[in-house]
Amino acid sequence: MKRVGAHVSIAGGVANAPRNARAIGARAFGMFTKNQRQWRAKPLAGAEIDAFALAMHEAGYAPQHVLPHDGYLINLGHPDPALRQQSLDAFIDELERCRLLGLDRLNFHPGSHLRQIAPDACLDLIADSVNRALDKVAGVTAVIENTAGQGSNLGYSFEQLAHIIHRVEDKSRVGVCLDTCHAFVAGYELRDPDGFAATMAAFEAVVGFGWLKGMHLNDSKPGLGERVDRHHSIGHGKLGVEPFLRIMSDPRFEEIPLILETIDETLWPEEIRLLYSFTTV
Ligand SMILES: [Zn+2]
Ligand SMILES: [Zn+2]
Repeated sequence: MKRVGAHVSIAGGVANAPRNARAIGARAFGMFTKNQRQWRAKPLAGAEIDAFALAMHEAGYAPQHVLPHDGYLINLGHPDPALRQQSLDAFIDELERCRLLGLDRLNFHPGSHLRQIAPDACLDLIADSVNRALDKVAGVTAVIENTAGQGSNLGYSFEQLAHIIHRVEDKSRVGVCLDTCHAFVAGYELRDPDGFAATMAAFEAVVGFGWLKGMHLNDSKPGLGERVDRHHSIGHGKLGVEPFLRIMSDPRFEEIPLILETIDETLWPEEIRLLYSFTTV
């Protein structure tokens, strides 16, 4: 089964996320577990954890249908050791929040070299941070998201994702989230059948579908290879509907969270219906 959803709000408490997802007809969802623009958050209270479990049950979601996203401030490859440690501490806290909520994965953006160190050195630091974090928190998989390659953000090529995976010690707890907008603006063609096939063949050869733990389904405002991170609603951007038609009828994307991060949330119910109408397998 294909599991399409959207990155829903936790306003009013984390227990609202499964309810918000249910209300838009989602079979999966993304969420933050805290304010994504702040370093610190109050620890999750027992009552919040219980309320989340109850809401998950009532809405009919299992942990593997949820793709939590970490905060925007975290840079696990920060060249400055003190600032990298601050990011690592925050990342460990995010993993712990997922664990407390009974969730099994955490999606994160790899990190940025800030033009202070070589890209490969930064990728090594990211893998080292992931190793330290996984050591501290059990039961949650670190899911590396491919990026748009804007500024000095790494993780825009499949080779960079593979570089990190190869250096993570616990291979059972590392995975990848593929964002369609990010892949496209990073230079991976997805619009025509040959381009889509070639991109997915490259992903299989360099990373491997076995690592795929989720996707972000976003259309793109910028064009191919423009390296700018601007999402658009499905069918409204430079990608158009064709890549999504292929994803929805491709068995390689079964049973993983397929999450919209598109810009107009009033369109989410419609986008979810449209995507399910593409399903042929
Ligand atoms: Zn994304
Ligand atoms: Zn993005």
